[in-house]
Amino acid sequence: MKFLKLTFIIAIAFSFTQCEQENEIVDSSDATIVDNTTLEKIAKLGFDTQNYPVLKDGEYYTVEGDINIPESYLDEIDNQNQSKQRRWVNIVSCNEIRYITVFNNLPAGSARNSVSLAMRHWNDITKCDIRFAATSNINNAEVIISNGPLSQGVVGRGTFPSNGKPGRYIRLDLNQFSSYSYAQWRSTIEHELGHNIGFAHTNGSAQGGGPLPQEILIQGTPVNDPNSLMNGRRGGTVRSLTGDDKRAARLLYNTNFSGRLCN
Ligand SMILES: [Zn+2]
Repeated sequence: MKFLKLTFIIAIAFSFTQCEQENEIVDSSDATIVDNTTLEKIAKLGFDTQNYPVLKDGEYYTVEGDINIPESYLDEIDNQNQSKQRRWVNIVSCNEIRYITVFNNLPAGSARNSVSLAMRHWNDITKCDIRFAATSNINNAEVIISNGPLSQGVVGRGTFPSNGKPGRYIRLDLNQFSSYSYAQWRSTIEHELGHNIGFAHTNGSAQGGGPLPQEILIQGTPVNDPNSLMNGRRGGTVRSLTGDDKRAARLLYNTNFSGRLCN
């Protein structure tokens, strides 16, 4: 093991010099093979370590042939049970995220009025390609927001994406929460829109209880985000997208970023 470690360090030093000498062109023959513990961590991130060699190049690991992941991501694996941004196993495809038509089917009132601001907050995330667009034609709508009964104490319900498309429905229970303000509805709708584009609950499962196997931690977001818009079971607390929520959104949907999770 000691010998392995030494070889590892020497090999890294070697690959650094190679990089400099070759003007940043990385020749994979000089990259180093990583140890088993690291391989296990990378496999836990969901990358295929069986069919592709994992190579170390400076502060990055190259996985599945052409994906670079920062070394720092691996340190977060040990903190898997903490509050941290999560995504559903299925997210929206890169092409679909750029134009998501939303039909607002809510009756007149503060909930209906707050939809456009909730959409705008997602659209305004910099270096992120999420774009919700209002449509007045229900037949063109990808997401339909309606009023209807939900279980006791449940204010809203979103739908996770499938087949690369956003979830189709958001239901709010306006009758049960008739005293909600504009800000409370805006916050609720913004949260449900997050589900429809693949965000699970930061603090646990979207179904209540512990996270499901399909709710995957978004590597690269910090381990704690108590103010996350995507925390569940927050009742009428008014929330907005936090810096970490936005970071998670970029990791999924910055289509110019080679390490993005949408495809
Ligand atoms: Zn939720």
